[in-house]
Amino acid sequence: MSGIPVACHGLVHIYRVEGNDVVALSGVDLDVAPGEVVGLLGPSGAGKSTLLNLFAGLLRPSAGRLTVGDHDIARMDERGLARMRAVDVGVVLQGAMRNLLPYATPIDNVRFAQRGAQRVGGQDLPRAEEVLGLIGLDEEATTSLSALSPGQRQRLAVGVGLAAQPGLLLLDEPTSQLDHEGRDEVIDSVLAANRDLGTTVVAVTHDPDVADRLPRTVTIRDGRVGSEGRRGEDFAVVARDGSLTLPPDILENVPPGSLLRVTVDDDGAVRLRRTGAAGEIHLEEGR
Ligand code: ADP
Ligand code: MG
Repeated sequence: MSGIPVACHGLVHIYRVEGNDVVALSGVDLDVAPGEVVGLLGPSGAGKSTLLNLFAGLLRPSAGRLTVGDHDIARMDERGLARMRAVDVGVVLQGAMRNLLPYATPIDNVRFAQRGAQRVGGQDLPRAEEVLGLIGLDEEATTSLSALSPGQRQRLAVGVGLAAQPGLLLLDEPTSQLDHEGRDEVIDSVLAANRDLGTTVVAVTHDPDVADRLPRTVTIRDGRVGSEGRRGEDFAVVARDGSLTLPPDILENVPPGSLLRVTVDDDGAVRLRRTGAAGEIHLEEGR
């Protein structure tokens, strides 16, 4: 299967715990095109894992719209969500072993992961050997997991996520606790899957070296999209409701409540001018 798109509009997620509401996402607008690779960055507690779990159909939105491929997540029942997870979406949770059967060999781990998809209506799945080849573990097909390196185990977790050839692969911190070599190999495997299968990839990471290898990054801050990066350059994003999240370094100069006069020059430069203050911010419209 080739890549599927993800689209969210004003996405809100609230956890209800003992009479307390925790607003984890407070209006996320994000479109991911089929076959795109996107990194989700941002400080701890920003809402990255929540967003990933919503994309996976493991959580339901509290408000807003979310579609994954043709699926309108808010309207689906549990059966539909389970089917979507089995066929369309591969999820790799944080911590390799959370995704693996510890006493099964690598090839049996891949085969087990394929069963769910076969049960709900068998598309043609690749042979388990091919999946291992894609992640560079063909030689380790029957090696015990305890004899694999941490990087190899993480790559196997990626292989398990890819086993049913999903259109969307979701990864939560896939390189945490790996050395440089292990980390690079994991990212190589993910990018190879994207290139060879067209799989759409959304990966949470807080490793700047990983982010550097991804063509597009989205920074989540306080439950919203804070900024976007394209090939190392950072951009502020205008949300669908017209709001703009300013980068933290600019916010130091314009505290909340500041009045800004917004003008667009003939050459397309957008100016934010603080009233009654010397400070002036210049924004060139992104191209
Ligand atoms: P991140 O992955 O960016 O660190 P999370 O999505 O895990 O952020 O969390 C976002 C917010 O939601 C945090 O304030 C966190 O404490 C809260 N949160 C996450 N999971 C739960 C949960 N199961 N129940 C209650 N609150 C949660
Ligand atoms: Mg997280």
